[in-house]
Amino acid sequence: MRNLWKDADTAGMDDLDLLVYQSRLIGADTALVVWGGGNTSIKVDQADFRGRETPAMLIKGSGSDMKTIERKHFPSLRLDDVLPLFDEESMSDEEMVAYLSKCMLDPSAPRPSIETLLHAFLPYKSVAHSHADAIVALTNNENAQRTIQLVYGDDMAVIEYIRPGFHLSKKVGQAVRGNPRIKGVVLVNHGLFTWGDTAKEAYDRHADLVDLAEEHYNANAARSAKGLGGTAQKPLETARRHQVAAAIAPTMRGLASQRNRVVLRYDDASDVMGFLSTERGKALSGIGPATPDHLIQTKQKPLWVDVSDPEDVPSLLQALHQGMERYAEEYAQWYSQHTTGEEPMLDPYPRVVLVPGVGMWTTGRDSRAALITGDIYHHTIDVVTKALSAGAYTSLSARDAFEAEYWPMELYKLTLAPPEKELARQVALITGGAHGIGRAIALRLAREGAHVIVADLDQEGALSLAEEMNNTHGPGRATGLRMDVTSEEEVASAFEKLRLSYGGLDVLVSNAGIAPVGALDELPLADWQRALDINATGHFLVARQTVRLMRKQATGGSLVFVGTKNVTSPGKDFGAYSASKAAEVQLAKVLAIENGEFGIRCNVVNPDAIFEGSALWSKEVREQRARAHGISVDELEDFYRQRNLLKERVTGEDVAEAVLFLAGNRSAKTTGAMLPVDGGLRDAFPR
Ligand code: ZN
Repeated sequence: MRNLWKDADTAGMDDLDLLVYQSRLIGADTALVVWGGGNTSIKVDQADFRGRETPAMLIKGSGSDMKTIERKHFPSLRLDDVLPLFDEESMSDEEMVAYLSKCMLDPSAPRPSIETLLHAFLPYKSVAHSHADAIVALTNNENAQRTIQLVYGDDMAVIEYIRPGFHLSKKVGQAVRGNPRIKGVVLVNHGLFTWGDTAKEAYDRHADLVDLAEEHYNANAARSAKGLGGTAQKPLETARRHQVAAAIAPTMRGLASQRNRVVLRYDDASDVMGFLSTERGKALSGIGPATPDHLIQTKQKPLWVDVSDPEDVPSLLQALHQGMERYAEEYAQWYSQHTTGEEPMLDPYPRVVLVPGVGMWTTGRDSRAALITGDIYHHTIDVVTKALSAGAYTSLSARDAFEAEYWPMELYKLTLAPPEKELARQVALITGGAHGIGRAIALRLAREGAHVIVADLDQEGALSLAEEMNNTHGPGRATGLRMDVTSEEEVASAFEKLRLSYGGLDVLVSNAGIAPVGALDELPLADWQRALDINATGHFLVARQTVRLMRKQATGGSLVFVGTKNVTSPGKDFGAYSASKAAEVQLAKVLAIENGEFGIRCNVVNPDAIFEGSALWSKEVREQRARAHGISVDELEDFYRQRNLLKERVTGEDVAEAVLFLAGNRSAKTTGAMLPVDGGLRDAFPR
């Protein structure tokens, strides 16, 4: 039983509160709706702006999500204006939307759902609509009519697939108005509508009807197993499949980014691995989506990449190249068969990539979009599996699929999206990212739309900064991990994690560093060695992994090294620091030379005297530098300000601004360069 309604929870609620309560119960059940799907309404008398009572309908606004919905997300429409539309012969989507906008009691409320007329035409107080997997499974098979009859008898009206809009609304209205006995409407390839005199009654019926469909499935699950066939490719053991996944992800990301750059999300949950292992999975995945709502996120079909041995990475890469190109060609063909010539072709590359034995990848403009697509494909797998219990799986026709993906209402939504930020769709790694300059850079790049991986010796600090950015910019936008840049193994394992998290990398900010002090005649070898390990070898190890990855990805990239003014103007008692940082900068220049032909740039930012939150400026360094300049520690910050041409205090944010410029496309024609951020130091001018 899925019914979670508790009368004790709803005591004293008004109609709108009950609607919110009902909507949240439906929204919280992922077997009913996911990510903004479904909608609910209630018909009540409401006062208009002059206090006149008028029959109205409150319905979910477009773009809200039922699991977190609130009172304000339900616009209210005047039924006296809406209901006469039932007598119209036809109406385009644009006419309908324009008309409904004039029926709103509060014109500033959110736009009402595209399924508003359907709710309005049902002559009942409360109406609930979901895209329940179990219901869609009943409709998406060759024996849909017979199965629905078997499960529901004559209690249910069945409406063949039509896109949401005026015609569907009128058809459903006609079916229900003439037939007071029926308890619900099943929309083929779409979902379920129920109603009642109260929100509870509509919800109870909804839960009961979905339960019946699930019971039917459970009783026939053996037929599903048969429909999926035997095992064709067992999943690789976890550590091995993660290695393979990390090895192929950058190539996959590059191929999928040929039209628009995307981030990837890797998923090897057990239901996915189970479906990928079946003999019939490939054929079934190619039939089509469960509903048009699914299609908008997943496209009509996933790309299925199979080779005889999924541990054979070179063969997998070859299959991936061929598969991606074939997918894009077939998409272009499908597009040209159905286009009216009005709509430009959308991205022809897949949103879902399935690799038996290894896992599923979903793509998106950001991690959230990739996550939504992944969630939806889990439901697609569920619907396909359940549908097989009643017969062969069926889906939308190629024409209907085209009209769903190129529905002007959807395309219009795309045009409303705000312009993308400078580093949108990109992934940036920042070493030494938890504190000081690194932290300022991480926050700046995230604000500009980048996905950020904060790597630091201080794992706690890295994780807590990532959490802070996820709270600000949305889940999945940042990841924290421990990285000792001097350890070849740790750098390699961090890169494996990074490849699994986002599929690749576009920006490296190589920032981790230390500043040992001491005159060279007395400097212990260990201090010298440690400076070289972190300030030179550390940059080498991280940059080596980065350029290997970026060359596989084949979409260019930008490396930004955080140097120091000591590179061009070394300081007394700073020998180990100055020499190791000079090695870092030579390394950056050679990286620029070796990787230009791959569109990979490498530039250096040379800051000076950034005190705030910096691990470099330890108490010891402060005391030592004060001594070297013959001043007290308190005078140190002012001393550094006074010695630059602009007499300015330089901050981490100033450095972050320069890094942002070198990371992004505004510096597309610059590589091998050094940019000082030091307030102007004449003796540090590059020459
Ligand atoms: Zn719907």
